[in-house]
Amino acid sequence: AVVVRHRMRSSGRWAKAAAIVKELEEKCGTPIGKLRQVADAMAVEMHAGLASEGGSKLKMIISFVDNLPTGDEKGLFYALDLGGTNFRVLRVQLGGKDNRVAKQEFEEVSIPPHLMVGTSDALFDFIAAALKKFVDTEGEDSHLSPGRQRELGFTFSFPVKQSSIAAGTLIKWTKGFSIEDAVGQDVVGELTKAMERVGLDMRVAALVNDTIGTLAGGRYDNPDVIAAVILGTGTNAAYVERAHAIPKWHGLLPKSGDMVINMEWGNFRSSHLPLTEYDQAMDVESLNPGEQIFEKLISGMYLGEILRRVLCRMAEEADFFGDTIPPKLKIPFILRTPDMSAMHHDTSSDLRVVGSKLKDILEIPNTSLKTRKLIVELCDIISIRGARLSAAGILGILKKLGRDTVREEEKQRSVIALDGGLYEHYTKFREAMESTLKELLGEASDTIVIEHSNDGSGVGAALLAASHSQYLEVEDS
Ligand code: BGC
Ligand code: MG
Repeated sequence: AVVVRHRMRSSGRWAKAAAIVKELEEKCGTPIGKLRQVADAMAVEMHAGLASEGGSKLKMIISFVDNLPTGDEKGLFYALDLGGTNFRVLRVQLGGKDNRVAKQEFEEVSIPPHLMVGTSDALFDFIAAALKKFVDTEGEDSHLSPGRQRELGFTFSFPVKQSSIAAGTLIKWTKGFSIEDAVGQDVVGELTKAMERVGLDMRVAALVNDTIGTLAGGRYDNPDVIAAVILGTGTNAAYVERAHAIPKWHGLLPKSGDMVINMEWGNFRSSHLPLTEYDQAMDVESLNPGEQIFEKLISGMYLGEILRRVLCRMAEEADFFGDTIPPKLKIPFILRTPDMSAMHHDTSSDLRVVGSKLKDILEIPNTSLKTRKLIVELCDIISIRGARLSAAGILGILKKLGRDTVREEEKQRSVIALDGGLYEHYTKFREAMESTLKELLGEASDTIVIEHSNDGSGVGAALLAASHSQYLEVEDS
């Protein structure tokens, strides 16, 4: 059937477009009061997730990391960082207190998209082969003690139910990965089998989430680091909890008294979250409907896609790009968050970056300045909502730890290690997140510091491999 669309008058189009923007702005609103409710809900869910297994949407996963790096770590260690469209392999020479990270080499390999939705063996074979190639470049100057097996810190940035520091089963995939037969498997077992298949003799000494790696790397540089947050393709947080505040932990009380928790906050949800029709539709059509709702409002995988969905509606209902709907605009995930960020940061008077992105990606030529301005406004609404919600999440952690207010007796500094492409490259997002956190904390904001931990998760995993090496002399207990 031929769909007859009525031409709208220009004034009618603009009014309709403006109405859609205004409605979005209202629905995405994050006034301070709402953010406080989100933070409170986060703290409540943290308690519930720590109380019992399955007690909350927040998994609050016990990482089995009860000691963070001290600086004494020594030796040659490898790390493997898997969690997005790229993975990295690292070789780190740790030199103890005096020489710290004496040498560090890494290589980045992009994962062919078909491997993200294929089989477990295919993915792990590919990774093991790349790792082997990297190990083969190990030079004479690398100080692996003779007769010693190489050891690896494996950063695997998906929800894993850990059963020890070096074992854990995959709960589910996130961020566009979907490999059915890996779910429920021990990912260390999968990697180890693949390493054997390619003839690589290496032992996984530590399996960690990227938040845990970032926390470890951050702590190595700064003893005041108490939490780590990733704002990248996905989002998540980890923090140092007191072991006796974890009712579901039935193991021995660690000597340190601490246990690092991987919150998996991406799966947080609450009636206080400002969800729109676009978010709901995106969720329903996603690889993981009903899951990772907080992540879908915040992280880099989704912001550009939300923007695309709003633009689609504007094209359909307000003839925003003329009489026809640009076909490219119909393609899910065609607008990536880095492109959205580029448009959002366009400072030219004619918004020429916006113009060229629309032309190059969506094949929409000749957009008016007025059109471009509205698009920048959309970028602002969508990214600022995400930024403010992530600040609320951080406040939730600080509340749980009782560090959200100044106590005169102990003016303790709390440092939060941040990493991820969104945080690193989307300046307006970062600035909004940081200023919102200040606003939320009031006078306590003097004692809370956010520090960029640049790629800390790789070094962090190597550090944790070192402190869980099979060659460490066993301490008397
Ligand atoms: C994963 C987390 C990870 C985060 C950041 C989320 O999708 O569930 O395990 O830490 O992305 O990479
Ligand atoms: Mg980085």
